[in-house]
Amino acid sequence: MTDRYAVFGHPIAHSKSPQIHAAFARQTAQDMRYEAILAPLDGFAESIARFAAEGGRGANVTVPFKEEAFRLATRLTAHAERAGAANTLVFEADGVLGDNTDGAGLVADLTRKLQRPLSARRILLLGAGGAARGVIAPLLEQGPAELVIANRTVSRAQRLAEPFDGRVKACGFDALDTPFDVVINATAASLAGELPPLSPQVFGAGALAYDMMYGRDTPFLAFARAHGADTADGLGMLVEQAAEAFFLWRGVRPDTAPVIAALRA
Ligand code: NDP
Repeated sequence: MTDRYAVFGHPIAHSKSPQIHAAFARQTAQDMRYEAILAPLDGFAESIARFAAEGGRGANVTVPFKEEAFRLATRLTAHAERAGAANTLVFEADGVLGDNTDGAGLVADLTRKLQRPLSARRILLLGAGGAARGVIAPLLEQGPAELVIANRTVSRAQRLAEPFDGRVKACGFDALDTPFDVVINATAASLAGELPPLSPQVFGAGALAYDMMYGRDTPFLAFARAHGADTADGLGMLVEQAAEAFFLWRGVRPDTAPVIAALRA
């Protein structure tokens, strides 16, 4: 029987996940189906339970349900635990495993696709929302020289840094005046076509500016380019986090490069 998977969100029509997982399944000859399901804002747990009862094997979870998915899971990976959110669920015989593959997806895109080693490098993470929170532990695992979180509301950055015992620094944008090797925009500013109030001094020689947002050029990427940085958007992260989920479900690692290229085209 064809195995069923789905992504749950609200809204969900825009999701590229069905296209990505269909491409992975074709490429690796997996007998599976992957659909997009619009869960009611007050009915996420019921939607998931119905899907699992109908034979669903696993799910991806997107905005605004990642925290609810975290609470619904009966077992969590270390990454989901650290993130306080789950974007991938596996329906097991005795419960639900929750994982968070966003950080592993970002790290895979940075280190494998963009060839940017993170070990002993200075990393600046902008923003302190769900996206930022999910990538801190995976970034730290790469052994950076420094990881700084800057946010408009400084107290939110401080709260995110706190559990990491001094290994992560937190500040406001106005305190940033030294160069970094990698600057990651995990704020929602790009969604609104805005630029975080950032000093150009954050872009060190040969720095990479990475915007988690994808699909269009952003004021952040244009600003970074104007100050000599290399730039990349978050499409690679999107496909790589999907590949991590696919691997968790199927035990097979798809080749992400042709899927990223097809989405870009
Ligand atoms: P949240 O709403 O949880 O967080 C918003 C963050 O952005 C807060 O830190 C907020 O600061 C900050 N912010 C909002 N507007 C501005 C602004 N104008 N200037 C400076 N800071 C601002 O969003 P998420 O964390 O869920 O998502 C952030 C981004 O990451 C989105 O663009 C999303 O599309 C992208 N994303 C991409 C993924 C991928 O696979 N490529 C995966 C997940 C997310 P404050 O605390 O002060 O309000």
